[in-house]
Amino acid sequence: MKPLQALVFLLLAGCACAQQAEQYDLLLRGGHVIDPRNQIDAIRDVAIRRGKIAAVAAKIEPAAAFKVVDVEGLYVTPGLVDIHVHVFAGTGERRSYAGDSSVYPDGFTFRSGVTAVADAGCAGWRNFEEFKRLIIDRSRTRVFAFLNIVGHGMRGSRYEQDVNDMQPKPAAEMALRYKGVIVGIKTAHYMGPDFTAVDRAVEAGTIANIPVMVDFGRSNARTPRKSLEELLSKRLRPGDIYTHVYSGLRGEIDSSGHPNPGLFEGRKRGVIFDVGHGSGSFVWRVAVPIIQEGFLPDSLSTDLHAGSMNTGLKDLLNVMSKFLALGLPLDQVVLRSTWNPAREIHQEQLGHLSVGAPADLAVLRLEQGEFGFIDVYGARLRGSRRLSCEMTLRDGKIVYELNGLSRPDWVSLPKNYRSTGSPRWDGIRGSGGFIRQESGSGPAGD
Ligand SMILES: [Zn+2]
Repeated sequence: MKPLQALVFLLLAGCACAQQAEQYDLLLRGGHVIDPRNQIDAIRDVAIRRGKIAAVAAKIEPAAAFKVVDVEGLYVTPGLVDIHVHVFAGTGERRSYAGDSSVYPDGFTFRSGVTAVADAGCAGWRNFEEFKRLIIDRSRTRVFAFLNIVGHGMRGSRYEQDVNDMQPKPAAEMALRYKGVIVGIKTAHYMGPDFTAVDRAVEAGTIANIPVMVDFGRSNARTPRKSLEELLSKRLRPGDIYTHVYSGLRGEIDSSGHPNPGLFEGRKRGVIFDVGHGSGSFVWRVAVPIIQEGFLPDSLSTDLHAGSMNTGLKDLLNVMSKFLALGLPLDQVVLRSTWNPAREIHQEQLGHLSVGAPADLAVLRLEQGEFGFIDVYGARLRGSRRLSCEMTLRDGKIVYELNGLSRPDWVSLPKNYRSTGSPRWDGIRGSGGFIRQESGSGPAGD
């Protein structure tokens, strides 16, 4: 039913019961659903009611839905989950991930199919509540956080090298106070020759019963490499996350081009391996040989920040497309961008399309053509497929769409048309996108 017809129907029916006329608010019809958690990889209709997945089936009656959107030829996946981003923007602090080096989540997530992110340690226990107030509470994207073991978080090297500010107790207390928002502890950028940063992060993670994500610093002439083998086979717990796995900066690959045996050892113990692409941590000459020897990542993530997004990274869809170019099947790429990362941060309500789950979805196009994918040093790998985002839904509402699949052609509308959507399915703000209740009022087109 088109919105105008629906409006007429509502007026004719003239009672509150008309609101229940259709069983579903929105029906995405005819898409190729990939939901790895539920082992669905087939053409399916997806029905949404009150922000939740209501049905996934080969055929759902369109008349049962208030709004039908045809997504034939497109892929429908759970909303993408990116567990390594930097989004503590807005403090005004220069050259800091707790400031200018971060980006605001909503400007970068929905347009690439991402509905949930985890900030990877921008804030520590001293400034987490500011991060929550400025960003987490104000974003439409679901924002989780790894709390930095450094009390000041990622405010720069002066802070991040200070072992005295790595205090497990206050970090764990803050994590427990914001359970379900703080989903892990992060240690990053530590250059010392010792395991202090890792051990204190693990101590905090153990008290708060959450995983630790490790950026293992980097080695240079002044700071000889700490043993990656020891980190992965002894220091980390099962469920802890090693990010930047294809950087080559931390001993992931040896001089003869083979993966560090510690990677396999860690995986056997249940350590999780994450991409964390960023502006310095994804290199073809590292990723290709490691993957050729069978070592795939558990989760794809961006390490999105102001310094990485315009380099080889771009966005999560570009990272996913890189793994398609490396030969990974699409369902495996989707698994590593939805259900796997959701599970890694213990948010099992996300990352799948089970009935009753929050209706966070991405509608993706798999473009065929000649594409190039560049790593952090500017080296290119060619590919023939690229994922792009056609539509994103958060809690059952369309929050982004590229080609207006849900929209009427303007010539079909009344001469002085304004808003075209309905609050039952339209979540696009700033477009005047809702049905106006009476002439002359309604939301301003800001
Ligand atoms: Zn990062």
